[in-house]
Amino acid sequence: MSTSFKTTCCYCGVGCGIVVHKDRQGKLHVEGDKDHPVNKGMLCSKGMNLHYTVMDTSDRLLYPEMRYNRYLPRQRVTWDQALERTAAVFKQIIQKHGPDSVAFYASGQCLTEEYYVVNKLIKGFIGSNNIDTNSRLCMSSAVAAYKMALGEDSVPGNYDDLELADCIFVAGANPAWCHPILWRRIEAAKAANPSLKIIVSDPRVTQSCALANLHLQLHPGTDIVLHHAIGRILIEQGFTDHTFISQHTEGFTRYKETVMQRSLASAAAICGISETDIIEAATYIGKAKRFMTLWTMGLNQSVVGVNKNLSLINLHLITGHIGKPGCGPFSLTGQPNAMGGREVGGLSNLLPAHRLMNNPAHRKEVQEFWGGVPLSEKPGLTATEMFTALNEGKLKAIWILCTNPLVSLPEARLAEAALQKAKFVVVQEISSKPETLQYADVVFPAAAWTEKEGTMTNAERRISYLQKVADAPGEALPDAEIICRFAQKMGFHGFSYNNAAEIYDEHCRLTAGTNIDVSGLNYALLKEKRSVQWPYPKGTTDLGTPRLFTDHQFYTPSSKAVIHSFDDDNKSAPPDKDYPLILTTGRIRDQWHTMSKTGKVSKLKQHIPAPFLEIHPDDAKERDIRADDIVEIFNSNGAVRVKAQLSTSIKKGVVFLPMHWGKILNNDLSRANNLTHNRLDPISKQPDFKYAAVQVLPYKKP
Ligand code: SF4
Repeated sequence: MSTSFKTTCCYCGVGCGIVVHKDRQGKLHVEGDKDHPVNKGMLCSKGMNLHYTVMDTSDRLLYPEMRYNRYLPRQRVTWDQALERTAAVFKQIIQKHGPDSVAFYASGQCLTEEYYVVNKLIKGFIGSNNIDTNSRLCMSSAVAAYKMALGEDSVPGNYDDLELADCIFVAGANPAWCHPILWRRIEAAKAANPSLKIIVSDPRVTQSCALANLHLQLHPGTDIVLHHAIGRILIEQGFTDHTFISQHTEGFTRYKETVMQRSLASAAAICGISETDIIEAATYIGKAKRFMTLWTMGLNQSVVGVNKNLSLINLHLITGHIGKPGCGPFSLTGQPNAMGGREVGGLSNLLPAHRLMNNPAHRKEVQEFWGGVPLSEKPGLTATEMFTALNEGKLKAIWILCTNPLVSLPEARLAEAALQKAKFVVVQEISSKPETLQYADVVFPAAAWTEKEGTMTNAERRISYLQKVADAPGEALPDAEIICRFAQKMGFHGFSYNNAAEIYDEHCRLTAGTNIDVSGLNYALLKEKRSVQWPYPKGTTDLGTPRLFTDHQFYTPSSKAVIHSFDDDNKSAPPDKDYPLILTTGRIRDQWHTMSKTGKVSKLKQHIPAPFLEIHPDDAKERDIRADDIVEIFNSNGAVRVKAQLSTSIKKGVVFLPMHWGKILNNDLSRANNLTHNRLDPISKQPDFKYAAVQVLPYKKP
């Protein structure tokens, strides 16, 4: 006999529905929710092992801990002691150095309600915009590009569109491993419709390439050249939609001039692929009646990430493949609630409901709604900027929630130095494992997935409700409750919610009248409908809005989509004689982020048990490296030592490291971010994780 609870997977942005069964002994078992429109009962390896993650409480933080100075160990304290001291230190720092001397660094895994209260706290009551999340590392380039091209950070289509498309261009993504359930839907669509054309662009032959009609194995950083070359062919071959371009877009003339500047031969040489392949890709796209693009980190995590995104979106705008079934540019979200976080304004340059920070009327609306201090018009520090500011002494205190920046931030030594230098570090976490804890002055134990209720929004704007299944162990509390208790200790009003539903209702009211209006939603409705897609204004009775821009009216001032033009240069630091190889980093199938959850599940370690360097046999031979040799990968930032995996799946001149490992406490040199650079896209401030010049040599013990 067991009780069943409906919830949503807490890993990737696909947002699969899950049913958690709890037996009389409290033992949990998960299965895919057959009624959920996203996964229809399917789960990937990570999702189907979720119960092991939550039932293993051996590493859980159970009680608040605190230390009075860096030389003393932390000790168990009461919640009141920890919160009062944290509030006293924050007040002192703010009084002495101003509100911008403190910051919150959160996660795309936080629930919408958690995002909402922490955003309200810092922007509405402390008076700083210093809140950012690890979503900055994941898809901020896509957010900026959507906004620039379509006038709003909004994914136009939905997952069903992928089953209606007759051409899908997967750019810089490996959904077969990183968004597996979505990929299974695409596999089924291809089986049902063999004429569906799939194009994959990636410097590596990934699992996703197995389904592709065409793999464009381009050099890292050459995506804009490729997209422009495809654009040029579409124009030359008459595949563009003139009516759509003239009625619903602006910027085409300049775009045409831009893409015509580079010959096909030159583009092919720069990308390292054949002219024939580029023509074939353009022909698939040009002949398609319904064309979709999917992309993730290969485009986003770049110093020209926004332009890479825009160059791909342009292919939709010149062919009119947007706002129609089976069409549209679809940025896949890495994290489960990156989109929900942005709905409440949970980034340093956003306000709730996608309001604009530089718009005085928007700031006033939010201030009046919250009843706090005037909102600052100065954008706050972004993820990596926070750590730079700590290093420079400009930022004094940082509160880190649900994320492990010492493994996940680029140029990791800077993040380590920053936390050493910080005057005060608060870590709000479920696990005692993350490396960040060694720097924490205060530790707040948080409730995990299934131990709290709330909502998340997946990559297709679908909001799902997550039921609470079990109590948190020890004295761990839901993240929103921790933030609200702290806000009250700071003396702020407006944080005395009785439950998560009240927070959600407040968020919904604040969206009324905006482009992402969800004022018609509440928990009762979400429980009844299971999930809905925003916008969901008052009076909505169906399942929301599956598709945007169906009237081809965009959210720009002219209501036209903007075709942007720019050069095709990759602005990363190129390889040189000292560091002749290009390092790219990424995920493996069965691990998630820095492994604080998936690393607990032995089944998930079976697929790939240890970090490795993927290197082309020719590059290995030049260096006298054999399979399974320990190699040292190094550049001016640091070094990594792992086993070499020789593979023709990777382009010559390129090497790949998985991003998950990084036990710095054990001095384990497996952290890929020892080597990446803290170089940012100038608009999105997203770091360049996919391109670092390195050298690789056999490692010889000294
Ligand atoms: Fe979870 Fe993503 Fe796997 Fe679905 S595809 S079960 S959301 S990890």
